[in-house]
Amino acid sequence: MSQPFCYRCRQSLDQKDDLRVLTRTCGPCFTALLSSRDRNLSEYLESLEMPSALVDHNQTILFSNSLFRGMMRENETVGLRVGEALDCMYAGTLGRCGDTVACLLCRLKRSVEHTLLTGEGLRAVPISYPHRASSRKSFVLTTEKVGNAVLIVMRTAP
Ligand SMILES: [Zn+2]
Repeated sequence: MSQPFCYRCRQSLDQKDDLRVLTRTCGPCFTALLSSRDRNLSEYLESLEMPSALVDHNQTILFSNSLFRGMMRENETVGLRVGEALDCMYAGTLGRCGDTVACLLCRLKRSVEHTLLTGEGLRAVPISYPHRASSRKSFVLTTEKVGNAVLIVMRTAP
């Protein structure tokens, strides 16, 4: 594997640090990019190789990359919650994503809430949810808090 460099400042990254490699940024650049909430953030998310989105406390998508939007039937995430974007079977049938009884057990929601509440980013959390059209979909989740929002990066399970 070639030496990874920070997307923004080009300094070489610690290959043993999963978050640095996954997000292709050093710590200060990660915070600066994710805090910008403008075109810089959009372009940065596009550079990531996995579906990624910045979400707020109730799973509403603030920013996402096209890999993330590619998992959706419609290419518009504004105002959508994660479960709605990912076609979770419970969203829409039982209520809004995050508000249903099933959501109490949702590991994605709990991971985002844990990260917001404690500031601790989570690594390699296995997630599986019932998809509206397919059977179940699975991926491995990484979370990292930035300000009042959480970046989620989804690695599709092999
Ligand atoms: Zn940097």
